Amino acid sequence: MTNLLKLLLPGDRIPLAEQHRAQIITSRVRVVAWMFALLTPAWILVDALTYEWPLWGYLAALRIGAALCFAMIVIWGVETRDIWRARRMLLALMLIPMTFFIISNPLMARFEIHGVAEAVSMGYIFLPFVMMAGLSVFPITALEGLLFVLSILTVTAILPLVTEHLILVPFNSYLGAIWLLALIGVVATFSGMSQLHFMYQLVKQSSHDPLTQAYTRRAGMEMLELHFHQALRNNAPLAIAFVDIDHFKLINDRYGHEEGDNALRAAAENIRRTLRGSDLVIRWGGEEFVVIMPHTEYANATIPLQRLQERGLGERPDESRLTASIGLAERIQDESSDFRHLVALADQRMYIAKQQGRDRIITEGGERPPTGSRAEAFHQPSPLPTTSQAL
Ligand code: GH3
Ligand code: MG
Ligand code: MG
Repeated sequence: MTNLLKLLLPGDRIPLAEQHRAQIITSRVRVVAWMFALLTPAWILVDALTYEWPLWGYLAALRIGAALCFAMIVIWGVETRDIWRARRMLLALMLIPMTFFIISNPLMARFEIHGVAEAVSMGYIFLPFVMMAGLSVFPITALEGLLFVLSILTVTAILPLVTEHLILVPFNSYLGAIWLLALIGVVATFSGMSQLHFMYQLVKQSSHDPLTQAYTRRAGMEMLELHFHQALRNNAPLAIAFVDIDHFKLINDRYGHEEGDNALRAAAENIRRTLRGSDLVIRWGGEEFVVIMPHTEYANATIPLQRLQERGLGERPDESRLTASIGLAERIQDESSDFRHLVALADQRMYIAKQQGRDRIITEGGERPPTGSRAEAFHQPSPLPTTSQAL
Protein backbone atom coordinates (compact mmCIF):
# COMPACT_ATOMS: atom_id res chain seq x y z
CA MET A 1 0.00 0.00 0.00
CA THR A 2 2.71 2.46 0.96
CA ASN A 3 4.63 1.41 -2.16
CA LEU A 4 1.58 2.17 -4.26
CA LEU A 5 1.20 5.57 -2.62
CA LYS A 6 4.84 6.31 -3.34
CA LEU A 7 4.21 5.67 -7.02
CA LEU A 8 1.19 7.91 -7.07
CA LEU A 9 2.71 10.93 -5.40
CA PRO A 10 5.89 12.65 -6.48
CA GLY A 11 7.11 13.61 -2.99
CA ASP A 12 8.08 11.64 0.12
CA ARG A 13 10.36 9.02 -1.34
CA ILE A 14 13.80 8.17 -0.04
CA PRO A 15 16.09 10.92 -1.28
CA LEU A 16 18.53 8.40 -2.71
CA ALA A 17 15.88 6.96 -5.03
CA GLU A 18 14.82 10.48 -6.05
CA GLN A 19 18.40 11.38 -6.92
CA HIS A 20 18.73 8.23 -8.94
CA ARG A 21 15.44 8.94 -10.67
CA ALA A 22 16.60 12.45 -11.55
CA GLN A 23 19.77 11.01 -13.07
CA ILE A 24 17.85 8.46 -15.15
CA ILE A 25 15.36 11.07 -16.37
CA THR A 26 18.04 13.57 -17.36
CA SER A 27 20.24 11.02 -19.08
CA ARG A 28 17.25 9.72 -21.08
CA VAL A 29 16.07 13.23 -21.92
CA ARG A 30 19.53 13.87 -23.34
CA VAL A 31 19.54 10.65 -25.40
CA VAL A 32 16.11 11.46 -26.85
CA ALA A 33 17.15 15.08 -27.51
CA TRP A 34 20.28 13.83 -29.28
CA MET A 35 18.24 11.55 -31.48
CA PHE A 36 15.77 14.26 -32.44
CA ALA A 37 18.47 16.89 -32.94
CA LEU A 38 19.71 14.65 -35.77
CA LEU A 39 16.45 13.19 -37.09
CA THR A 40 14.43 16.42 -37.19
CA PRO A 41 16.66 18.25 -39.75
CA ALA A 42 17.33 14.99 -41.68
CA TRP A 43 13.61 14.81 -42.49
CA ILE A 44 13.86 18.11 -44.44
CA LEU A 45 14.95 16.00 -47.42
CA VAL A 46 11.72 13.98 -47.32
CA ASP A 47 9.66 17.18 -47.01
CA ALA A 48 11.48 18.73 -49.96
CA LEU A 49 10.75 15.71 -52.14
CA THR A 50 7.09 15.52 -51.06
CA TYR A 51 5.75 19.03 -50.58
CA GLU A 52 5.71 22.02 -52.85
CA TRP A 53 7.61 25.21 -52.27
CA PRO A 54 7.10 27.27 -50.07
CA LEU A 55 5.51 24.75 -47.69
CA TRP A 56 8.62 22.62 -47.34
CA GLY A 57 10.66 25.80 -46.87
CA TYR A 58 8.53 26.85 -43.89
CA LEU A 59 8.73 23.37 -42.49
CA ALA A 60 12.50 23.29 -42.98
CA ALA A 61 12.85 26.53 -41.00
CA LEU A 62 10.67 25.06 -38.28
CA ARG A 63 12.74 21.87 -38.25
CA ILE A 64 16.01 23.74 -37.95
CA GLY A 65 14.60 25.74 -35.05
CA ALA A 66 13.44 22.56 -33.31
CA ALA A 67 16.79 20.83 -33.93
CA LEU A 68 18.59 23.78 -32.34
CA CYS A 69 16.32 23.56 -29.28
CA PHE A 70 17.02 19.82 -28.99
CA ALA A 71 20.73 20.52 -29.32
CA MET A 72 20.47 23.11 -26.52
CA ILE A 73 19.01 20.47 -24.23
CA VAL A 74 21.94 18.15 -25.05
CA ILE A 75 24.49 20.92 -24.42
CA TRP A 76 23.01 22.53 -21.30
CA GLY A 77 21.11 19.66 -19.82
CA VAL A 78 23.82 18.20 -17.63
CA GLU A 79 23.03 15.07 -15.65
CA THR A 80 21.58 16.13 -12.35
CA ARG A 81 20.50 14.64 -9.03
CA ASP A 82 17.99 17.40 -8.55
CA ILE A 83 14.54 16.02 -9.37
CA TRP A 84 13.09 19.48 -10.04
CA ARG A 85 15.77 20.15 -12.64
CA ALA A 86 15.09 16.76 -14.19
CA ARG A 87 11.38 17.58 -14.36
CA ARG A 88 12.10 20.92 -16.04
CA MET A 89 14.30 19.18 -18.61
CA LEU A 90 11.57 16.67 -19.38
CA LEU A 91 9.10 19.53 -19.75
CA ALA A 92 11.48 21.36 -22.09
CA LEU A 93 11.87 18.21 -24.17
CA MET A 94 8.10 17.86 -24.46
CA LEU A 95 7.58 21.54 -25.26
CA ILE A 96 9.65 21.34 -28.45
CA PRO A 97 7.47 18.84 -30.40
CA MET A 98 4.38 20.45 -28.87
CA THR A 99 5.37 23.86 -30.26
CA PHE A 100 6.27 22.20 -33.55
CA PHE A 101 2.81 20.63 -33.65
CA ILE A 102 1.05 23.89 -32.79
CA ILE A 103 2.81 25.75 -35.63
CA SER A 104 3.09 23.07 -38.31
CA ASN A 105 -0.49 21.77 -38.35
CA PRO A 106 -2.36 25.02 -39.03
CA LEU A 107 0.39 25.83 -41.54
CA MET A 108 -0.13 22.59 -43.46
CA ALA A 109 -3.88 22.99 -43.37
CA ARG A 110 -3.49 26.07 -45.61
CA PHE A 111 -2.01 24.01 -48.43
CA GLU A 112 -3.58 21.46 -50.74
CA ILE A 113 -1.95 18.15 -49.95
CA HIS A 114 -2.69 14.97 -51.92
CA GLY A 115 -1.33 11.52 -52.66
CA VAL A 116 2.03 10.55 -51.15
CA ALA A 117 2.31 13.96 -49.51
CA GLU A 118 -0.85 13.24 -47.58
CA ALA A 119 0.66 10.05 -46.21
CA VAL A 120 3.81 11.94 -45.17
CA SER A 121 1.63 14.52 -43.41
CA MET A 122 0.44 11.81 -41.04
CA GLY A 123 3.85 12.08 -39.40
CA TYR A 124 2.98 15.63 -38.38
CA ILE A 125 -0.50 14.77 -37.22
CA PHE A 126 0.71 11.85 -35.15
CA LEU A 127 3.16 14.00 -33.17
CA PRO A 128 0.99 14.15 -30.00
CA PHE A 129 0.71 10.34 -30.16
CA VAL A 130 4.47 9.97 -30.40
CA MET A 131 4.90 12.32 -27.43
CA MET A 132 2.31 10.47 -25.41
CA ALA A 133 3.91 7.09 -26.10
CA GLY A 134 7.33 8.62 -25.41
CA LEU A 135 6.36 9.26 -21.79
CA SER A 136 6.78 5.52 -21.18
CA VAL A 137 10.56 5.92 -21.47
CA PHE A 138 10.77 7.84 -18.18
CA PRO A 139 10.37 6.65 -14.56
CA ILE A 140 7.51 8.94 -13.55
CA THR A 141 4.84 9.01 -10.86
CA ALA A 142 1.13 8.85 -11.62
CA LEU A 143 0.76 12.52 -10.79
CA GLU A 144 3.57 13.57 -13.09
CA GLY A 145 2.15 11.34 -15.84
CA LEU A 146 -1.29 12.82 -15.35
CA LEU A 147 0.01 16.38 -15.68
CA PHE A 148 1.86 15.60 -18.91
CA VAL A 149 -1.06 13.61 -20.36
CA LEU A 150 -3.55 16.37 -19.57
CA SER A 151 -1.30 19.05 -21.08
CA ILE A 152 -0.83 17.13 -24.33
CA LEU A 153 -4.56 16.32 -24.49
CA THR A 154 -5.57 19.92 -23.83
CA VAL A 155 -3.32 21.35 -26.55
CA THR A 156 -4.40 18.72 -29.07
CA ALA A 157 -8.08 19.24 -28.26
CA ILE A 158 -8.03 23.05 -28.19
CA LEU A 159 -5.89 23.65 -31.26
CA PRO A 160 -8.63 23.07 -33.91
CA LEU A 161 -10.95 25.37 -31.95
CA VAL A 162 -8.61 28.34 -31.95
CA THR A 163 -7.12 28.07 -35.45
CA GLU A 164 -9.22 29.11 -38.42
CA HIS A 165 -8.14 26.05 -40.42
CA LEU A 166 -9.09 22.63 -39.26
CA ILE A 167 -6.21 20.31 -38.69
CA LEU A 168 -6.09 17.28 -40.96
CA VAL A 169 -7.36 14.38 -38.96
CA PRO A 170 -7.07 10.82 -40.17
CA PHE A 171 -9.85 9.75 -37.82
CA ASN A 172 -13.60 9.72 -38.34
CA SER A 173 -14.07 12.12 -35.50
CA TYR A 174 -11.77 14.41 -33.62
CA LEU A 175 -13.16 13.10 -30.37
CA GLY A 176 -12.10 9.58 -31.40
CA ALA A 177 -8.53 10.81 -31.87
CA ILE A 178 -8.50 12.48 -28.46
CA TRP A 179 -9.89 9.34 -26.88
CA LEU A 180 -7.15 7.17 -28.39
CA LEU A 181 -4.57 9.76 -27.34
CA ALA A 182 -5.84 9.60 -23.76
CA LEU A 183 -5.65 5.79 -23.75
CA ILE A 184 -2.07 5.83 -25.01
CA GLY A 185 -1.28 8.40 -22.30
CA VAL A 186 -2.67 6.14 -19.57
CA VAL A 187 -0.74 3.10 -20.82
CA ALA A 188 2.48 5.13 -21.14
CA THR A 189 2.06 6.49 -17.61
CA PHE A 190 1.58 2.95 -16.26
CA SER A 191 4.72 1.90 -18.05
CA GLY A 192 6.62 4.86 -16.51
CA MET A 193 5.24 3.99 -13.08
CA SER A 194 6.31 0.37 -13.32
CA GLN A 195 9.80 1.52 -14.30
CA LEU A 196 9.79 3.74 -11.26
CA HIS A 197 8.70 0.86 -9.05
CA PHE A 198 11.43 -1.39 -10.41
CA MET A 199 14.04 1.33 -9.97
CA TYR A 200 12.83 2.04 -6.45
CA GLN A 201 13.19 -1.65 -5.48
CA LEU A 202 16.68 -1.80 -6.94
CA VAL A 203 17.84 1.31 -5.10
CA LYS A 204 16.30 0.02 -1.88
CA GLN A 205 18.01 -3.35 -2.19
CA SER A 206 21.39 -1.97 -3.11
CA SER A 207 21.35 0.72 -0.42
CA HIS A 208 20.49 -1.57 2.50
CA ASP A 209 22.69 -4.09 4.23
CA PRO A 210 20.94 -7.50 4.02
CA LEU A 211 21.90 -8.57 7.58
CA THR A 212 20.83 -5.51 9.57
CA GLN A 213 18.61 -3.66 7.08
CA ALA A 214 20.59 -0.52 7.92
CA TYR A 215 21.91 1.68 5.08
CA THR A 216 25.12 0.42 3.53
CA ARG A 217 28.16 2.61 4.02
CA ARG A 218 28.13 3.77 0.38
CA ALA A 219 24.45 4.75 0.51
CA GLY A 220 24.99 6.18 4.00
CA MET A 221 27.74 8.49 2.72
CA GLU A 222 25.32 9.86 0.14
CA MET A 223 22.67 10.37 2.82
CA LEU A 224 25.22 12.09 5.06
CA GLU A 225 26.24 14.43 2.28
CA LEU A 226 22.63 15.21 1.46
CA HIS A 227 21.58 15.87 5.06
CA PHE A 228 24.70 17.88 5.79
CA HIS A 229 24.03 20.17 2.83
CA GLN A 230 20.38 20.53 3.79
CA ALA A 231 21.36 21.42 7.36
CA LEU A 232 23.96 23.89 6.09
CA ARG A 233 21.44 25.56 3.78
CA ASN A 234 18.82 25.90 6.50
CA ASN A 235 21.35 26.59 9.25
CA ALA A 236 19.77 23.68 11.11
CA PRO A 237 21.46 21.42 13.66
CA LEU A 238 22.52 17.93 12.61
CA ALA A 239 23.77 15.34 15.07
CA ILE A 240 25.87 12.31 14.17
CA ALA A 241 26.34 9.37 16.54
CA PHE A 242 29.07 6.79 16.08
CA VAL A 243 28.02 3.56 17.78
CA ASP A 244 30.49 0.71 18.27
CA ILE A 245 29.35 -2.45 20.04
CA ASP A 246 31.51 -3.40 23.03
CA HIS A 247 33.48 -6.65 23.05
CA PHE A 248 31.62 -7.94 20.07
CA LYS A 249 34.41 -10.24 18.98
CA LEU A 250 33.92 -12.23 22.18
CA ILE A 251 30.44 -13.26 21.02
CA ASN A 252 31.88 -14.62 17.79
CA ASP A 253 34.75 -16.31 19.58
CA ARG A 254 32.67 -17.93 22.30
CA TYR A 255 29.35 -18.64 20.60
CA GLY A 256 30.10 -18.62 16.90
CA HIS A 257 29.53 -16.30 13.98
CA GLU A 258 25.84 -17.15 13.76
CA GLU A 259 25.20 -15.83 17.27
CA GLY A 260 27.26 -12.78 16.38
CA ASP A 261 25.01 -12.17 13.37
CA ASN A 262 21.89 -12.51 15.53
CA ALA A 263 23.27 -9.98 18.03
CA LEU A 264 24.08 -7.55 15.20
CA ARG A 265 20.61 -7.88 13.72
CA ALA A 266 19.01 -7.27 17.11
CA ALA A 267 21.29 -4.31 17.82
CA ALA A 268 20.34 -2.59 14.54
CA GLU A 269 16.67 -3.24 15.22
CA ASN A 270 16.94 -1.80 18.73
CA ILE A 271 18.78 1.29 17.52
CA ARG A 272 16.06 1.88 14.95
CA ARG A 273 13.27 1.30 17.43
CA THR A 274 14.72 3.60 20.08
CA LEU A 275 15.50 6.48 17.77
CA ARG A 276 13.02 8.65 15.90
CA GLY A 277 11.56 7.71 12.53
CA SER A 278 13.46 10.54 10.86
CA ASP A 279 16.84 9.29 12.11
CA LEU A 280 18.87 7.17 9.70
CA VAL A 281 20.95 4.17 10.71
CA ILE A 282 24.01 3.25 8.63
CA ARG A 283 26.11 0.12 9.06
CA TRP A 284 29.48 1.80 8.88
CA GLY A 285 31.59 -1.32 9.36
CA GLY A 286 31.34 -4.77 10.96
CA GLU A 287 29.84 -3.86 14.36
CA GLU A 288 29.86 -0.10 13.93
CA PHE A 289 26.85 2.04 13.15
CA VAL A 290 26.57 5.72 12.27
CA VAL A 291 23.28 7.41 13.09
CA ILE A 292 22.22 10.59 11.30
CA MET A 293 19.89 12.73 13.38
CA PRO A 294 18.57 15.60 11.27
CA HIS A 295 17.35 18.80 12.97
CA THR A 296 18.74 17.59 16.29
CA GLU A 297 20.82 19.48 18.83
CA TYR A 298 23.05 17.80 21.40
CA ALA A 299 20.42 17.94 24.10
CA ASN A 300 17.81 16.21 21.96
CA ALA A 301 20.26 13.73 20.49
CA THR A 302 21.39 12.44 23.87
CA ILE A 303 17.87 11.64 25.10
CA PRO A 304 17.22 8.67 22.78
CA LEU A 305 20.87 7.60 22.91
CA GLN A 306 20.77 7.47 26.70
CA ARG A 307 17.56 5.50 26.50
CA LEU A 308 19.30 3.10 24.13
CA GLN A 309 22.18 2.80 26.53
CA GLU A 310 19.99 2.23 29.56
CA ARG A 311 18.06 -0.54 27.82
CA GLY A 312 21.08 -1.96 26.05
CA LEU A 313 21.33 -2.77 22.36
CA GLY A 314 20.04 -6.24 23.07
CA GLU A 315 21.26 -9.30 24.93
CA ARG A 316 24.49 -11.19 24.60
CA PRO A 317 24.13 -14.99 24.36
CA ASP A 318 24.94 -15.20 28.11
CA GLU A 319 21.94 -12.91 28.71
CA SER A 320 24.03 -9.96 29.86
CA ARG A 321 23.34 -6.50 28.37
CA LEU A 322 24.81 -5.83 24.91
CA THR A 323 26.45 -2.42 25.30
CA ALA A 324 28.05 0.09 22.98
CA SER A 325 30.45 2.99 23.12
CA ILE A 326 28.96 6.06 21.50
CA GLY A 327 30.60 9.22 20.19
CA LEU A 328 28.35 12.17 19.41
CA ALA A 329 29.06 15.25 17.29
CA GLU A 330 26.85 18.09 16.11
CA ARG A 331 27.34 20.37 13.11
CA ILE A 332 26.77 23.78 14.72
CA GLN A 333 28.26 23.18 18.18
CA ASP A 334 31.33 21.51 16.72
CA GLU A 335 31.64 24.15 13.98
CA SER A 336 31.93 21.49 11.34
CA SER A 337 31.99 22.44 7.67
CA ASP A 338 32.17 18.94 6.26
CA PHE A 339 30.24 15.75 7.00
CA ARG A 340 33.46 13.71 6.95
CA HIS A 341 34.85 15.90 9.69
CA LEU A 342 31.69 15.44 11.73
CA VAL A 343 31.84 11.64 11.40
CA ALA A 344 35.56 11.64 12.23
CA LEU A 345 34.81 13.69 15.35
CA ALA A 346 32.09 11.27 16.45
CA ASP A 347 34.47 8.38 15.75
CA GLN A 348 37.22 9.99 17.89
CA ARG A 349 34.76 10.46 20.74
CA MET A 350 33.63 6.84 20.41
CA TYR A 351 37.27 5.86 20.78
CA ILE A 352 37.53 7.99 23.92
CA ALA A 353 34.44 6.21 25.25
CA LYS A 354 36.27 2.90 24.70
CA GLN A 355 39.33 4.21 26.52
CA GLN A 356 37.26 5.42 29.44
CA GLY A 357 35.78 1.97 29.99
CA ARG A 358 33.11 1.50 27.26
CA ASP A 359 29.30 1.57 27.66
CA ARG A 360 29.03 5.38 27.61
CA ILE A 361 28.32 8.41 25.45
CA ILE A 362 30.96 11.06 24.80
CA THR A 363 30.03 14.47 23.39
CA GLU A 364 31.84 17.77 22.86
CA GLY A 365 31.95 18.47 26.58
CA GLY A 366 33.22 15.02 27.48
CA GLU A 367 31.08 12.28 28.90
CA ARG A 368 27.31 12.60 29.00
CA PRO A 369 26.09 12.54 32.58
CA PRO A 370 23.10 10.35 33.43
CA THR A 371 19.61 11.56 32.54
CA GLY A 372 18.46 14.37 34.83
CA SER A 373 21.68 16.35 35.09
CA ARG A 374 21.85 16.62 31.30
CA ALA A 375 21.01 20.31 31.00
CA GLU A 376 23.67 21.66 33.38
CA ALA A 377 26.53 19.72 31.88
CA PHE A 378 25.54 20.39 28.33
CA HIS A 379 26.97 23.83 27.74
CA GLN A 380 30.26 23.29 29.45
CA PRO A 381 32.87 24.50 27.01
CA SER A 382 35.46 21.98 28.26
CA PRO A 383 37.50 20.36 25.50
CA LEU A 384 37.73 16.60 24.95
CA PRO A 385 37.95 14.40 26.93
CA THR A 386 36.84 14.59 30.56
CA THR A 387 37.24 11.91 33.15
CA SER A 388 33.87 12.27 34.75
CA GLN A 389 32.00 9.46 36.36
CA ALA A 390 30.48 6.52 34.52
CA LEU A 391 26.80 6.54 33.57
P1 GH3 B 1 35.64 -3.21 21.26
O1 GH3 B 1 34.85 -3.22 22.51
O2 GH3 B 1 37.01 -2.67 21.48
O3 GH3 B 1 34.94 -2.55 20.15
O4 GH3 B 1 35.86 -4.73 20.87
P2 GH3 B 1 35.19 -5.53 19.70
O5 GH3 B 1 35.46 -6.96 19.92
O6 GH3 B 1 33.77 -5.13 19.54
O7 GH3 B 1 35.93 -4.92 18.44
P3 GH3 B 1 36.84 -5.56 17.34
O8 GH3 B 1 37.03 -4.48 16.31
O9 GH3 B 1 38.07 -6.17 17.93
O10 GH3 B 1 35.98 -6.73 16.71
C1 GH3 B 1 34.90 -6.53 15.87
C2 GH3 B 1 34.47 -7.90 15.41
O11 GH3 B 1 33.25 -7.85 14.68
C3 GH3 B 1 35.48 -8.54 14.51
C4 GH3 B 1 34.66 -9.22 13.42
O12 GH3 B 1 34.95 -10.58 13.34
C5 GH3 B 1 33.25 -9.02 13.87
N1 GH3 B 1 32.33 -8.84 12.76
C6 GH3 B 1 32.39 -7.91 11.78
N2 GH3 B 1 31.36 -8.04 10.92
C7 GH3 B 1 30.64 -9.11 11.35
C8 GH3 B 1 29.46 -9.75 10.88
O13 GH3 B 1 28.85 -9.37 9.88
N3 GH3 B 1 29.00 -10.82 11.57
C9 GH3 B 1 29.65 -11.28 12.68
N4 GH3 B 1 29.15 -12.32 13.33
N5 GH3 B 1 30.76 -10.66 13.16
C10 GH3 B 1 31.25 -9.61 12.51
MG1 MG C 1 33.39 -3.07 18.93
MG1 MG D 1 34.70 -1.67 15.80
